[in-house]
Amino acid sequence: MRPGAADAQVRAPIRRLAMVPEPLPGEVFHSWFFRLAEHHRTSATVMAEQLGLPPFTVHRYTIGDEFVDLTTGGYAVENLRDATGLRAQALAAMLLAPVGSRVVKVGWKDRTERAPWIWRTDTASVCPRCLVDPEAAWQVSWHLLPTVACPKHRIYLHGWCPDCRSPISIGTTTAYRRQCNGPFGPKGRIVGAKACRRPLAQLREIPVRRDRILQLQQELTSRLSAQVPGEDLQDRKEFWNLYELLFRLVICLGTPDMLPLATTDAEIWWAFHEFCELRDVVALTAGRNAKVIHDDLASFQPGPRLSAAAMLAIDELSHGRGLADAIRTFMNLRRYDEWADILWSVFSDMRPTFAIGQRILQIAGSKPRRSYDSPPYAKERLEDFDLPPAALLLAGEGLL
Ligand SMILES: [Zn+2]
Ligand SMILES: [Zn+2]
Repeated sequence: MRPGAADAQVRAPIRRLAMVPEPLPGEVFHSWFFRLAEHHRTSATVMAEQLGLPPFTVHRYTIGDEFVDLTTGGYAVENLRDATGLRAQALAAMLLAPVGSRVVKVGWKDRTERAPWIWRTDTASVCPRCLVDPEAAWQVSWHLLPTVACPKHRIYLHGWCPDCRSPISIGTTTAYRRQCNGPFGPKGRIVGAKACRRPLAQLREIPVRRDRILQLQQELTSRLSAQVPGEDLQDRKEFWNLYELLFRLVICLGTPDMLPLATTDAEIWWAFHEFCELRDVVALTAGRNAKVIHDDLASFQPGPRLSAAAMLAIDELSHGRGLADAIRTFMNLRRYDEWADILWSVFSDMRPTFAIGQRILQIAGSKPRRSYDSPPYAKERLEDFDLPPAALLLAGEGLL
């Protein structure tokens, strides 16, 4: 090797800013950006100008697709490196864009969205113990729906503020890292309402007593960011497609007895139980108000405790089998519920573009992937499958 070649590789770029805090392990970009602004005692607007970045918006600074997309904003990477010495790889590690966007396309709400359902973009779940730290760094993982607990402190994350009863969200000043930025409604920040400012580090600690949820969280988040050996891109897309369908079914139509008693913490069981009660009451109540509450309830992305319940229920339903089998089991479990018909039709009316019914029928009628040594499949008709009559309401006319 030529003398100096190694030097050139390791030499850090020249910094323009004097004080640049190092990104902490797992830290998300907006958190680091606001720590930088805090060290410089300046606002997000001035900081963005000094760094040569486009103006701060929560979506832009959390997802970061405009920072790495060469056609719209590739300059941002270079400007940042010149101003702070931050390498492109370190920047990419702090953004959501590389995590799961190739395998999950559909958003949580019933409209076209840039963000896949697996992301929490402008709202996030936080660990109160992690926020006691003076730097109060937010993690990339807090923006992922399957992250429901802090593995370091072994407590469940909080996605909602108990004071203003709104999702914990990212603000435009650095205060959001330590204090609630609410109130926040289903359509975004409630403009004009009194600011909540509850200290996030003081949120109640809910201990994780049963390890299964931490394992599930680990498995799912690594499926999003890294490839499981032997699994190609198509397999990964198929896995997440089925997982999304099942996750939606459990949140919108699941019952607490789907939760495995041996691996579910009591807090999670109760949270899901209360949620199901409320959801069914508003779904079965006539009138406009009930419909508005039901729509609000279903349009929020599930918080960490509800997500934990859904993950545990899916784990129980698919125990030792595939996700397609879990969907069949789910349909059978709901079969004898006297209210199922009404709940199904409320659910399908509410979210027509997700085509839940058609997808369930496709899965129920689908055959496992054909391998060379398996015999040819017998012809099967949809009537041969053991589908609950309520599920057929979802299928729409003309399909059967
Ligand atoms: Zn923590
Ligand atoms: Zn609040």
